[in-house]
Amino acid sequence: MTGGLGCTLALSSSLFANSGIFPDETQKFVREARFYDKLENKKIRCKLCPRQCVIDERERGYCGVRENREGTYYTLVYARPCSLNADPVEKKPLFHYYPGSAAFSLATAGCNVNCKFCQNWEISQVRPEEVRSYYLLPEEIANLAGKYECQSIAYTYSEPTIYYEYMMDCALAGKRKNIKNVVITAGYIAKDPLTELCKVVDAIKVDLKSFSDKYYREIVNGELQPVLDSLVTMRKLDMWTEIVYLVVPTLNDGDQEFRDLSAWIKSNLGSDVPVHFTRFHPQYLLKNLPPTPVKTLERAKEIADAEGLHYVYVGNVPGHPGENTCCPQCKKIIVQRTGFTVQKMDIKNGQCLYCNYKIAGKWGI
Ligand code: SF4
Repeated sequence: MTGGLGCTLALSSSLFANSGIFPDETQKFVREARFYDKLENKKIRCKLCPRQCVIDERERGYCGVRENREGTYYTLVYARPCSLNADPVEKKPLFHYYPGSAAFSLATAGCNVNCKFCQNWEISQVRPEEVRSYYLLPEEIANLAGKYECQSIAYTYSEPTIYYEYMMDCALAGKRKNIKNVVITAGYIAKDPLTELCKVVDAIKVDLKSFSDKYYREIVNGELQPVLDSLVTMRKLDMWTEIVYLVVPTLNDGDQEFRDLSAWIKSNLGSDVPVHFTRFHPQYLLKNLPPTPVKTLERAKEIADAEGLHYVYVGNVPGHPGENTCCPQCKKIIVQRTGFTVQKMDIKNGQCLYCNYKIAGKWGI
C-alpha cells in the first residue's frame, strides 16, 4: 500500500492490525439508532429520511442497514466502513472548499435511494453482511485522517445519511483534532437530523439528480421535494453547499430543465452556490445510454450562467475549461484546474487577486 492522495486502503493492510475484521462478530457494529418512534406491537417508524419506513420486529428498513429488534431500532453499520480512501477534495467534487486539500473518505454499505446510474452500486445496493468491512471506531478514523495528512474527513461513496450515528461521532472525533468534515449526499434526509448534522460538519455536497419529480421516482426511487427542502435548510443554516447535477442523456438533459433548475437555485439558494454539471458514463442499470456529449454539458453551463449563477462547472471532462473558476466581476480565471489537480489559485484572503471581488467559499486552511 502506498500513502498519499488517491490511495485506497487495502482491507488486508497491517495498518488495521489492532482493529481487525470480524465478519462473524457483527454485534460490535450494532448501536441503537437515532430518530425513530416506537409504535404498537413492537413496530417502529424510522424518521431519519423522507421514507419514514414503518418496520416490523426483526425487519429492516429500505436502506438495509437498520433493524428492528424487539421494538428497538438499531444501526448495523456503526464503525463498519467498507471503503476508505485518501482523495483530493476536488474529487468529491468540492471546488470552493480549501482547494488542493485532502479528504479522508469513507463509506459503509447501504443507501436510501436506488439510482439506476449508481457508480458505487456494489456497496450502496447491498446489505452490510455482503461486503467485507473494517472495524474502525470514530477516534481511529480521526487518527487515520491525521496520519494521511487529510484536512477533512469525507462521508461519501454510498449515502452517509444511512450511517448517520457513525458519521456524527466521526465528525465530532475529527473536530476534536481540528479536522474538518464534509458530507457527500443525495440530500434525502429529514429536517431534524440534517439540522443537527449541520451543527457539526463544515460543508455538504448535494447530488441534485434532476429537477423533475418523475425522474426522481423512476430513476432514483425517491422524490424531488425533500431534496429541495434539504438544500433550503442548508442555506438557512449557512452551510457551505455545492450542487452536482449528473446529466444523463435523454433523461434529464433538456434546456428547460437546466433553466428551471438554475432559476430555482438562484432564487432559493443564491447565485454563489457552485453548480457542477457532470458527465454520465454508462453503468449499473443504465448501460444502454451513451456518455453525455460534452456539448450538452457546455449548453447546461451556458444556460446556468445566463440565469445568473456565478460558479458553474463542467465535470468529469478532465482538461475542459469549464473546470476553472472565473471571477464573477472581472471574469479572469482565478482557480485553474485539470481534473482533480489545482494548477494555480489567484485568490487571496478570499478575494480575487485582480479586482478584489469576494469569492464565495472557504479558501486556505
Ligand atoms: S434511513 Fe433507512 S430505515 Fe430510515 S426511513 Fe430512510 S430508508 Fe427507511
